[in-house]
Parts: sequence; C-alpha cells; structure tokens
Amino acid sequence: MSFNPLTVWYQNGLKFRCTECGKCCTGTPGVVWITEEEIIALAAFLQLSIEDVHKRYIRKCGNRLALIEKPPKQGEYDCIFLKGKRCTIYPVRPKQCRTFPWWDENLTSKEAWQEAGKLCEGIDHPDSPLISLQEIIDQKQ
Ligand code: SF4
Repeated sequence: MSFNPLTVWYQNGLKFRCTECGKCCTGTPGVVWITEEEIIALAAFLQLSIEDVHKRYIRKCGNRLALIEKPPKQGEYDCIFLKGKRCTIYPVRPKQCRTFPWWDENLTSKEAWQEAGKLCEGIDHPDSPLISLQEIIDQKQ
C-alpha cells in the first residue's frame, strides 16, 4: 500500500524530543544494521582503516552487517559505542539510529507509538515539542 500523508493517523504530528537517556542504545540484545557506506564514514570518523572497523566493531548477521554489542552487564546489552549515556559516534551513527523513533513499526498505529513510548521517554513526553508530519517524513529518510 502506498504512503498517503493525508490518511496517516499522525497527520497532525507527534510529540517527541530525545532526552539523551540512552535507553534505546541498551537493554535487551538487538541488531543495529550498518551498511558498507556507513562503515566507510565510521572509519573516517574514528580515524581507523575500514578493515580495523570491521574487525573491532562489526559482525555478520546472515548476509547483512551489524554493530557488535558490549558483553552484557546485569542483563543489559549496551551498544559498543555507548559511553555512559552518550553515543560516541553520534555524527556518523547508522540510519537505524538516526531515524529512531520514526520507524515504520512505531508508526503503524497509535498503539504501536505508545508501545515505543514505554522504552523511549521522549515519546509523548509533556515537554516534548510537536514534530510536524513533514518533519517526521524528512527525519524518516
Ligand atoms: S530512548 Fe528516546 S529519549 Fe532516550 S536516548 Fe533513545 S531516543 Fe532519546
């Protein structure tokens, strides 16, 4: 089904602001997909060779590539690039991170959005600004 901005349930926008709580970068084991193009940008940012980035930070999941996680601590699986609550590769973070929480699975319904809000305190937070439909569409890219 094609995307029609006039019929989506969030056409009046959604409230969100990242509080930098870091919860979306930890928790249960997950997969953060990364592309070869993003690995090249990451290598430049870290001033490492592409080969070294692969060796230190990348794993194969089927025929795709993903970031590794730190060994679990008290059942929490932190992203390898999470330091305290801070993302240490923020300017070159993969698209999956950049586009959160505007993932299709979170936008399928109001219920799905509220479910995502159980993890992410910036979703529907009273202090969060209203993000317009156009901004959501732009940030989903
Ligand atoms: S869980 Fe939400 S508020 Fe917390 S760091 Fe992630 S996006 Fe930001």
